[in-house]
Amino acid sequence: MQSALYLQIAIGSPLRRHFDYLPPEGSNQADWRVGSRIQVPFGRRTETGILVGISEHSDVPVAKLRPALKVLDDTPLLSNEMMSLLKWASDYYHHPIGDVLLHALPVLLRQGKDASARTEPVWQLTAAGKTADAIDLKRAPKQAALLKQLQLNPDEALSKEDFNQQHSHWRTPIAALIKRGWVERSERRGLLADTETPDRAPELNDEQTAAIDEVCAQHDEYQCFLLDGVTGSGKTEVYLGVIEHVLKLGRQALVLVPEISLTPQTVSRFQRRFRVPIAVMHSGLGQGERLDAWLSARSGEAGIVIGTRSALFTPLSNPGVIIIDEEHDSSFKQQKGFRYHARDLAVLRARKLQIPIILGSATPSLESLANVDQGRYKQLILNHRISRAAPPPVRTIDLRGQPIESGLSHRLLEIVTEHLERDEQVLLFLNRRGYAPTLCCHDCGWIADCPRCDAKLTLHAASQRLRCHHCGSEQSMPAHCPECNSTELRALGQGTERIENVLQTYFPTVDVLRIDRDTTRRKGAMQAMLDRIHDGRKAILVGTQMLAKGHDFPNVTLVGILDADQGLFGIDFRASESMAQLIVQVAGRAGRAEKPGQVLVQTYHPEHPLLQNLLKQGYPAFAQQAMQERREIVLPPFASMALIRAEASQRELPMAFLSKAYATATACQIKGIELFGPLPAPMERRAGRYRAQLMIQANERKPLQHLLKVLLPELDKLPETRKVRWSIDVDPVDTM
Ligand code: ADP
Ligand code: ZN
Ligand code: ZN
Repeated sequence: MQSALYLQIAIGSPLRRHFDYLPPEGSNQADWRVGSRIQVPFGRRTETGILVGISEHSDVPVAKLRPALKVLDDTPLLSNEMMSLLKWASDYYHHPIGDVLLHALPVLLRQGKDASARTEPVWQLTAAGKTADAIDLKRAPKQAALLKQLQLNPDEALSKEDFNQQHSHWRTPIAALIKRGWVERSERRGLLADTETPDRAPELNDEQTAAIDEVCAQHDEYQCFLLDGVTGSGKTEVYLGVIEHVLKLGRQALVLVPEISLTPQTVSRFQRRFRVPIAVMHSGLGQGERLDAWLSARSGEAGIVIGTRSALFTPLSNPGVIIIDEEHDSSFKQQKGFRYHARDLAVLRARKLQIPIILGSATPSLESLANVDQGRYKQLILNHRISRAAPPPVRTIDLRGQPIESGLSHRLLEIVTEHLERDEQVLLFLNRRGYAPTLCCHDCGWIADCPRCDAKLTLHAASQRLRCHHCGSEQSMPAHCPECNSTELRALGQGTERIENVLQTYFPTVDVLRIDRDTTRRKGAMQAMLDRIHDGRKAILVGTQMLAKGHDFPNVTLVGILDADQGLFGIDFRASESMAQLIVQVAGRAGRAEKPGQVLVQTYHPEHPLLQNLLKQGYPAFAQQAMQERREIVLPPFASMALIRAEASQRELPMAFLSKAYATATACQIKGIELFGPLPAPMERRAGRYRAQLMIQANERKPLQHLLKVLLPELDKLPETRKVRWSIDVDPVDTM
């Protein structure tokens, strides 16, 4: 008699295991392919799961097993390669397998839809629509608003998502616009067509050629390269050169970029160079387009896949190289749910695929530099800036005892004036949006706090609102102090909005462009500002870290960092590394050969050794010193870290749970483990919930992984578990 077979199925559930089912009735073994989706009854619902294994045994008594309903795919959606990567990730990040596997699929596939190409309806202006005047639509304000939105970028097609962002009812008015002959509807795929006349590559310099040759020499084996080159040294040209080689071999390239640098400019640079279709994966896509892009990568139709973090999980029929641009960027780490690091998983994926991977950056992470030191990664250096002089000199402005106006020292304002008098552009950087981070009563000292967080509300002056940047709650700005009724409310400290106002008053004849999340929310707004910057006329740009990536500002000759101390004294151990990266990145965006420019950093601590080192000797020297410090105090990359976070609406619950976790971990008696905490999180209350954390550290990965493997199932069983929301973060990037 043939023994019975059971299907092991992963389902999106918080449980760290798969579930056993009997095979669907009437199906046979040839239909059960690992990596396929399969519908199953789960509780009272029907869920779409992934078949992860077939076994002759089940720990569940047969009588209790239910049959699965239906296999959805003839060809597995997750290849063996992807299954093995995802299983590894589920183990390493200790995240439930079902959630991990489903995370790797486009939403429509997770929902059980067919794995066949979808298009997305989009709407675009006709020639008549481009010249139509919204004033003619006085009686139809909704149509007028839609027309205006489309006319912002007259050649661009807008999707459902684009309209939903700004209008609650748009279907009827858009139909009316179509009737007028001003708008037409078409279908869009998630794939960009290839260009007919590709751009020619520039003549590469020796460093670039050497880098490309080194990577291409190893096209059939795994090797991780750290492409370490200052901004403007031609790293992107190296990527393009390697991709050209890979495409010639009939293979595909996967390119990951940070969230804010996936701009139309970035994509078009790749698109203009090659005669292959490109799949672009980002959050702005409609679900249909996303599925289409995913399928075209899987079928091999797309030669290049470009995307943000989650594009790492795109299937490739014939992979040739993986490229991670700005590898130091923290957006590669997912901060909630499945907390994976796309860069680290990409290295693993390349190794499994036996293909090269390039990590590129002007300011490599200490993790990657340590991997170079230990011989695991090969460093490729680009020392020369292509079209510009040496990077601009960086100097500090000592704020101590200086006259200062809303965060701008007189010394800085003088130098700004000089640059503007020469008709040049100035860029001022402040990583805080809004008008002021504090609203305070001058009479009684009352401060506008967020009712749901241990945080102050930020004043947004233009909209006269107080907003919490942590939980999103907001209220209108009060006319009087709620405590003493005084009208003497003062805005303390500064954000980009205030700096913009001050500069407008100070330089009334100069354009001040503010670039932050508040001013670029509207589609096309960022592009309009970039166009203004690129016309070269004098201007002051004020912005947040949105300015640090993906853009070049050749006419900017002065970069001012308004508050470096935010980073020097941040609570997170990576704060100074991030600040250094930011200073170097912002500085690198500016200047060119004829107008070399300068960088000024305002600080109350000009003698700070890390800052000194960065400014005098540059990022490599800074990195060496920071690395030495990390080694001495045993922090990553010289230690492995995991963080257990817990939160609940009652203050004592997270601490009680984590104390139990502490005791359980100690009882595991694994050598080489150190526990820190439990402690309340630096911002204990957020969005109405109290938060605490327990840090686990070890000199090596192994004991840490071992501990987590034993500890987490124990924690799952604790009665305290049910009273908190808790999570585990392996290799946390943000330890707050
Ligand atoms: P990075 O990615 O390191 O910032 P890019 O590849 O974007 O540098 O190069 C900066 C600029 O120099 C781009 O405009 C690029 O087209 C140009 N460039 C790069 N390499 C060369 C080269 N070998 N000759 C001429 N121009 C180049
Ligand atoms: Zn008051
Ligand atoms: Zn809040």
